[in-house]
Amino acid sequence: MGRLGFRVALGCAAVSCAIAAALVGRRLRSRRQWSRAVELVREFEEACATPVGRLRQVVDAMAVEMHAGLASDGGSKLKMLLTFIDKLPDGSEEGTYYALDLGVTNFRTLRVHLGGKPSMILNNKVECQPIPKELMTGTIEELFNFVALTLKKFVQREENGVDQISDNTKDLGFTFSFPVKQLSVSSGLLIKWTKGFSVKDDVNDTVGTLALCHYGDEDTVAAVIIGTGTNACYLERTDAIIKCQGLLTNSGVMVVNMEWGNFWSSHLPKTSYDISLDNESSNPNDQGFEKMISGMYLGEIVRRVLHRIAEESEIFSDAAQSLSAPFVLRTPLVAAMHEDDSPDLREVGRILEEHLKMYGVSKNAKRLIVHVCDIVTRRAARLAAAGIVGILKKLGRDGSGGVASGRTKGKPRRTVVAVEGGLYTKYSIFREYLNEAVGEILGEEVARYVLLRCVDGSGIGAALLAATYLSANR
Ligand code: ADP
Ligand code: MG
Repeated sequence: MGRLGFRVALGCAAVSCAIAAALVGRRLRSRRQWSRAVELVREFEEACATPVGRLRQVVDAMAVEMHAGLASDGGSKLKMLLTFIDKLPDGSEEGTYYALDLGVTNFRTLRVHLGGKPSMILNNKVECQPIPKELMTGTIEELFNFVALTLKKFVQREENGVDQISDNTKDLGFTFSFPVKQLSVSSGLLIKWTKGFSVKDDVNDTVGTLALCHYGDEDTVAAVIIGTGTNACYLERTDAIIKCQGLLTNSGVMVVNMEWGNFWSSHLPKTSYDISLDNESSNPNDQGFEKMISGMYLGEIVRRVLHRIAEESEIFSDAAQSLSAPFVLRTPLVAAMHEDDSPDLREVGRILEEHLKMYGVSKNAKRLIVHVCDIVTRRAARLAAAGIVGILKKLGRDGSGGVASGRTKGKPRRTVVAVEGGLYTKYSIFREYLNEAVGEILGEEVARYVLLRCVDGSGIGAALLAATYLSANR
């Protein structure tokens, strides 16, 4: 080999060495990056753990807080609002009833025609419309005027295009998706816009759900909503409502609206991500349970974890920026990624690109993202399950024995819980985790007697409640 040839060979060797070193360096760095990402996820998973022992502590805490909230106003973070509803529809109701279901972003007008036993809804008509944006920020009077006008048009259409609404009074039920107390609607205001209607109570949407499920199944004792927000209500014995001693109802029972989104217990598995979410929210220290389990927040918790991973590793390339905006990742997207069963996680890739501008994410990194979705969803579903069993415990229907064990002839009593809301009805993995956890906490024998029933239509429930009360007075 000549001198030149030797130099060229030497140069080539040096370049190869440099490339090899760079490759090894990059591989080492990427391994370090990867192990940091995995470590963050592992820490998060540990902090979110919900073994059955911990769930039982949450069950006990829920039952204790329920007692405290029933003992005095302000006795617990659970408001345990009394609804003064002391009977629920049982399927025997007859006649035509109207209802309004005023949600956060839209409202529904409904008409149901009931045919008497057995639980026969002959037909029902529902119209759903968005609440115009300007009214969401306007006065309550403007909002109600709009609602009243829409209702009037709906009734006119339903009554075969008659211009004037006939003189006979219509029976109207009314549901709100938010606590009525906070809205402080005066009855004077209601009377003004409900001219021509006889309104039976403002019903919270959980109460509507309870009513609807009870209409079809009288063993229904509680209703839980897990949608954008979360809440629960149940049927309580009036002698257990200490804060209102001497309260007389014909039936000795009353529906209690728990406002359970505000439940808190030191046994809830709180992580640093929950703390920062709460601190940066518009209502810090409020709605702690809701912030762990409802649709409004699950996507945001996942985003926070992914953002930290993006900041502390480069496994998502340069996604830290796009992951930094609060609430960019909504819960239905989390569900869609979680439920992606394609071998190359195509849906995950699509969502990352379209919604988060995260391009070229590796398959392993996508798997890690799906795992984070799973951790957040599983914790939420299992905590919601513990909340439900907490209600059953308060009612003595959790099979834990004692005088109030609810057993007849040694068997637990059949118990139905109505469950509504997009998270439970549309997110099948969430629903499976929740159902499974209820079984785990209660044990197989008792769980056989507890049914969670998917219910849709709290507005119809409100119409049914109107029917329950008003048909008795006809
Ligand atoms: P709302 O609670 O606003 O009355 P829903 O009960 O329908 O309405 O719940 C809507 C919420 O449910 C959404 O905000 C979202 O968080 C969640 N959600 C809706 N669809 C899905 C889905 N496919 N997967 C998971 N969560 C969903
Ligand atoms: Mg709803």
